[in-house]
Amino acid sequence: MINATIDFVFSKWWLTFLFTFVFFLCLYFGGIFLMKSILIYLKRKNKVFEIVDFKSKGQEQTEIKNSISSILVFALQAIPLQWLYINKYFYFGQNGIINCLWEIPVLFLWNEIYFYLTHWLLHQPPFFMKVHYKHHASREPTLYSVYSFHWFEAFLLGAVIFIPVLIYPFHILSILSLPIMSILLNFLGHWNHERATTKKPNYIGRFTFRHTMHHKYSKGNFGFMLPYFDMLFNTSYPKK
Ligand SMILES: [Zn+2]
Ligand SMILES: [Zn+2]
Repeated sequence: MINATIDFVFSKWWLTFLFTFVFFLCLYFGGIFLMKSILIYLKRKNKVFEIVDFKSKGQEQTEIKNSISSILVFALQAIPLQWLYINKYFYFGQNGIINCLWEIPVLFLWNEIYFYLTHWLLHQPPFFMKVHYKHHASREPTLYSVYSFHWFEAFLLGAVIFIPVLIYPFHILSILSLPIMSILLNFLGHWNHERATTKKPNYIGRFTFRHTMHHKYSKGNFGFMLPYFDMLFNTSYPKK
C-alpha cells in the first residue's frame, strides 16, 4: 500500500510537485487551526501567557503570503528529488516501521544541526540584509510566521532532506515525519506564549522563549529546539 502510493506520487514530476504543494499547505493551515484551538483553550485556563506584544498591522496577511511562496519553493524542490528517485540515486528503506524508532531521532538531530548552521549563516551581513530580514520583519512571532521566508531561505531550509536521503535509505514514514516534527516545533517556537516558569532561558523546554527573544533582538539563539549548540558556541542571547 505505502510502496504503491510512493511509486504513484514519484511516477511523474508534476504529481510529486502537486503532492508536496498540497501536503505543505495542509501542514501549514491545518497546523495553524490546531495550534490556535489549543492556544485558546490554554489561555482560557490561564495556563500560558503572552511573551511579547508588538504585532504590526497587516503582519499576519504578509506572513501568509510569504508562507505560500515558501510552500511553492518546497514543492519545486520536490522535482529534483523525484528525478533522483526515478534515476535510482536513492530509495526508501524497507526494513519495517520499527526502524523509524531510531531513524526519526536521527533526522531530528540532523535537522537541529542543519538549522543551527544555516540560521547562523543567514545572520551574516549579506544574507541578513538580502534574505533573512523577511523572517525578522515579524518582530512578534506568530503561528503564521513559521514559513514566512524569502524564497532563498525557503530553498536553503527545504534542502535539509537531500543529504539524509542520499546517504541512507530512510523509511518513507521517517522522511515524512521530518516536516511534521519540524512544523510542530516551529509552531511552538513562534506562538509567543509560555507557562509561568522560573527555569533559566537555556532550559531545554524554553525554546519558545529563546526564539521569541531571537525575533525581538534579531541576534543570538540560532538553534531550533535544543539549546546546546548556542551554549557550545556562546551564541545564546540575551546573556542574562
Ligand atoms: Zn534569525
Ligand atoms: Zn522565527
